[in-house]
Amino acid sequence: MEGPEVDALSFRLAALAGRQWVDRIDVPTNRWQANVLLKHCAGKRINQIYSQGRWLLWNFSHGVSWAIYPLKRWRWSAQWLDANRPVSNGFNENINPLTTRVGLRPLMRITLENGGCLTLSGRPLLLVLPTESLYRHPSLANLGPKLSDEFLTDEIWKKRLRQVAGDKTISQVIMDESVVAGISNQTKCEMLFAGRIHPAARVGTVSAPQMQEMVSAARRRADGLYRASLEGHPAHELPRHVYDRAGEPCCVCASSILAERCGRDGLWSWFCPQCQSLPQQPMLFGVDPVVDCIREIEPLNGIPMR
Ligand SMILES: [Zn+2]
Repeated sequence: MEGPEVDALSFRLAALAGRQWVDRIDVPTNRWQANVLLKHCAGKRINQIYSQGRWLLWNFSHGVSWAIYPLKRWRWSAQWLDANRPVSNGFNENINPLTTRVGLRPLMRITLENGGCLTLSGRPLLLVLPTESLYRHPSLANLGPKLSDEFLTDEIWKKRLRQVAGDKTISQVIMDESVVAGISNQTKCEMLFAGRIHPAARVGTVSAPQMQEMVSAARRRADGLYRASLEGHPAHELPRHVYDRAGEPCCVCASSILAERCGRDGLWSWFCPQCQSLPQQPMLFGVDPVVDCIREIEPLNGIPMR
């Protein structure tokens, strides 16, 4: 699940549960070590539900927060206790339709004062933390902005990508959660294809137009993911030019798409070797030490020297 999808999920959850008092929380005792802490949130009000990157964050009125991360598959579903009452606010029974085909064990059931009932199933990571020190937790402390943050214009994003630079690859910088949080490997591959950039290219070698193409492609994709999640369409219906298409022909040049771990980001990168060729990289102090560039020295004793 990608950042924009968690963003859409948080919007839908907030529409149902935001500012509501929690009547009770049911947790299977055999599944959840932190069940005592979780149950302490019963009888409290949910102040806010929002997302940062792929983290779903709940703030409660007694200064406690949940930070939930879709480490493994998860599913959120919403029902009314009164079975005859239709689920409103755009909810159908399963508000995260991405995982409806998967049988997942319920983890927690939250009953709200308005008669709404939310069930979380699957195996997410769930942290219970004091709200005041939420962003001091190592997983959250270095999270950058998410794509829907208003201040994150294209210009600021591009600047942030170049700031990390050094000798990092473009793949490493895109996946760096402190630059922009919530970018998936799939989005990374599609961004690089849109910019015609090799996954192992150094940030310094990416031109301004390529960078803009890349950022624009990510924005289009994020919009598509967000809207699909709100409307209940699975993300795999979005067009994939290279991601998970190894061996298939490129839609531009018909070369076979490759999958390699060349981006040094610890992940597979799918790319077209023709459209996304690796640029010539300067080596010694910015000078390309190709032998042909060295002027030929006058022949000595008839033997040409270089
Ligand atoms: Zn191609």
